[in-house]
Amino acid sequence: MEERVTNRLREIVGPECVLTSAEELRCHSCDATGKSALPEVVVRPERVEQVSAIARFCTEEGIPLTPRGAGTGLSGGAVPAGGGVSLSLTRMNKIREIVPEDLYVVVEAGAVTEELQRAVEAASLFYPPDPASRRSSTIGGNIGTAARGLRCLKYGVTKNYLMGLEIVLPTGDVMKTGARTFKSVAGYDLTRLMCGSGGTLAIVTSATLKLIPLPEHRVTVLAAFATLEKAAEASRNVISCGLTPSVLEIMDSLAVEAMSRDTALSRGARGCSLILAETDGFREAAETEADRVAKACADSGATFVEKSAEQWEREGLWEARRSVLTALAKLNPVTILENVTVPRTLIVEMIRSIAEISRKHELVIATFGHAGDGNLHPTILVDAPISEMASKIERAVVEISEKALSLGGGLSSEHVIGIEEGRCFGCEIEAPASEIVKRLKDAFDPRGILNPGKLLCVGR
Ligand SMILES: Cc1cc2nc3c(=O)[nH]c(=O)nc-3n(C[C@H](O)[C@H](O)[C@H](O)COP(=O)(O)OP(=O)(O)OC[C@H]3O[C@@H](n4cnc5c(N)ncnc54)[C@H](O)[C@@H]3O)c2cc1C
Repeated sequence: MEERVTNRLREIVGPECVLTSAEELRCHSCDATGKSALPEVVVRPERVEQVSAIARFCTEEGIPLTPRGAGTGLSGGAVPAGGGVSLSLTRMNKIREIVPEDLYVVVEAGAVTEELQRAVEAASLFYPPDPASRRSSTIGGNIGTAARGLRCLKYGVTKNYLMGLEIVLPTGDVMKTGARTFKSVAGYDLTRLMCGSGGTLAIVTSATLKLIPLPEHRVTVLAAFATLEKAAEASRNVISCGLTPSVLEIMDSLAVEAMSRDTALSRGARGCSLILAETDGFREAAETEADRVAKACADSGATFVEKSAEQWEREGLWEARRSVLTALAKLNPVTILENVTVPRTLIVEMIRSIAEISRKHELVIATFGHAGDGNLHPTILVDAPISEMASKIERAVVEISEKALSLGGGLSSEHVIGIEEGRCFGCEIEAPASEIVKRLKDAFDPRGILNPGKLLCVGR
């Protein structure tokens, strides 16, 4: 990158916030997919005026600009595929305002999700969206990826909590969307348009997020089953009994085995497939609902069912669940995480097909996910050189995707469409919708500088 360009960036944010060392460039080259492309420079603004000046400068110079939160994305969204500037928002991490009476918080984009949750919980308030990566992921990244999470069955997803945003356009203009009330409906819903746009339309600098009162009591239910199919049937039965646990997760015996090595998961769970559910609300209601979830699991053939209301015990179980992907990755040199969602009544059929595909291609596939939403992560585990297996992995991935689509499901339900999921275009997003998306991109970012190479592969 020309000295003139880095000098201008140093003038905007100060020399210590412009990083050019080989180590820093490498650290900002990839996300959790392992895909990577080096930026030419990393810039770490602290104020919205700095973001505005950087965006204006990059547009004038035609320099690619890729916003970045914690880099935990699972679709290559924060990988600077076009080179140029990696714009790290992590210094913009302040909670500007918590307003308990009006149930909202104003927070900067680089705030870590779990830290925001802890801060509002101290005021007896609750921000439910909880991607399993919440310990590191940022609010800006959650908005960029339209993050979901474990609790979305009862509480919804990131987009359901967005009241308004402060965004910076590629021109450098700072724009407010939405309002501090939930009933504002003036004009198009630009707030939610940003949600899932993966930094391709604008840079989010702060968000006004809806809060709800913190539930008084929580109960976790752990149920073990001889097979994943049995566990999936139980999850279907829980929902069809009219219950709405806040979380309803499923995992097969491979996932259970991986996570039980590092965590305090109940010994009775090993070798089984599991359902992990949580109920919450007023004490009596949460206890009653947990009893009913436990009964639905027992009636569906669970080999054992345990209930737990002790905070330390519950947190241990959820910590174990959140560690599944990392635990699988530790045990296998290569893990290929897929992401499919089917109508929740068809989850048993999807699981059966994944098992058939695994047998047919002689591949080891661990499956876990958010059963309550029909959202599964079949994860191909590879312990041989990947080049030897590439073609059968590719065929298995295509077959899993085709099955999900044929059941009326989707592929990109959780991880937004980045480099990895450009394949969704043409199957999930067909013309004329894809044409409209292209025109929207042009309206926001006519020079195509923001996160080029993503979504529609527009930009330079
Ligand atoms: C172990 C593990 C578990 C996970 N579990 C879940 C899960 O349960 N649910 C789920 O939805 N995801 C999950 N993810 C994926 C990922 O953590 C989420 O998508 C998360 O929202 C990404 O946040 P981030 O700050 O790391 O964003 P990054 O990876 O840095 O960026 C993600 C995208 O958002 C854009 N972006 C980032 N900040 C901004 C900004 N301020 N303005 C505009 N665009 C921006 C980037 O350009 C990129 O396209 C998981 C990942 C891992 C590694």
